[in-house]
Amino acid sequence: MQRKDISKIPAEFLPLVKQVITINQDYCREFRRQAQRLNAEILKHPTKILVFKCMDGRILFSSFTETPLGYLRNFRNLGGQFNMGWKGLKEALTGTVQKLHDEGRGCLAIVTYHYSKGDIKRGCAGYKYDVKASIDGAMQFKKQIKDAYRELPYHIFPIVVGIETDEESLKLHNGNGEFFDLATVDPDITDDEMFDKLLALYEYIPGSVLADLNPLLMGNVRHTNKIKLSNRPIAEMEHGEWLVGAGGATAYEWLHVPNAALLVGQYNPNIERPIAEALHVIKNGWHPGKKFLYMSAASYGGNNHPSLVMPEVRYYSRIIHETAEKFFPELLPDMYPVRALVDAYTQELKIV
Ligand SMILES: [Zn+2]
Repeated sequence: MQRKDISKIPAEFLPLVKQVITINQDYCREFRRQAQRLNAEILKHPTKILVFKCMDGRILFSSFTETPLGYLRNFRNLGGQFNMGWKGLKEALTGTVQKLHDEGRGCLAIVTYHYSKGDIKRGCAGYKYDVKASIDGAMQFKKQIKDAYRELPYHIFPIVVGIETDEESLKLHNGNGEFFDLATVDPDITDDEMFDKLLALYEYIPGSVLADLNPLLMGNVRHTNKIKLSNRPIAEMEHGEWLVGAGGATAYEWLHVPNAALLVGQYNPNIERPIAEALHVIKNGWHPGKKFLYMSAASYGGNNHPSLVMPEVRYYSRIIHETAEKFFPELLPDMYPVRALVDAYTQELKIV
């Protein structure tokens, strides 16, 4: 697959495309740099951590928990809404859990929702800012995971975690009405004190799994403290995304910049709905002169040869364009397509 000659891209979109390339190059460099830390972390904490989250560009769970790049497996969709009735999702999740089981590893599935304590309108557009509905949705999906694998030998433990986006702090629910809000924790909490909290909150989860969750929570307390001390402006908490992306599950791990992209996962069979909602968020933040990219990407590596994934890339690009034509034709002059292949091992991006 030939790399695209980016000098042919219209001048008004070129700075955004160059920004994408820079973001990718920076990530790949940092990902390489963190490789030792990543390997050490996996050896020390073998439980695989899956994060189900909203496509909202502000939700960067790995930064919020200070985990090494590549440590978490992210699943994204509108509102963090998922359903085990989606064939692709069920297959991907079962494949992952089976592989972990063969390796003798357990798995923690963190099902998230998000909200803002300062202004309800900075909450989740996917749930029309209804926090209770977001929690109910997350609880339902958690139950679906539990029910689906209950009779099977896999060690998968789902939990519901809220993300408060003003201070980027986590709130853990145990499903029995009790929760543990990390925003209220003493910043000097020790590892052992945190672990005791977890043991009490999740009596039904093995200690070894909770021990692997503990560093994420300690990371979140450190992170939240930095956010509090930084006094960041409100504007950075509101939507400013300039890219709508769709495509393969691991095709966007590199896109790790706050408030840059709205990323639609591939698993929802009705993909038009999250794409339309992403365009709606862009439209709300639109002003004359604002340009944005719509991106479709797939990762390749192993059995996924570029020629096999390229049809997906073309397909998602077409679907985004068709959805824009149908619901937001006024945005068409301000959007530009980027199609990309991503190396699954290095995360290096190739615009094609
Ligand atoms: Zn959301």
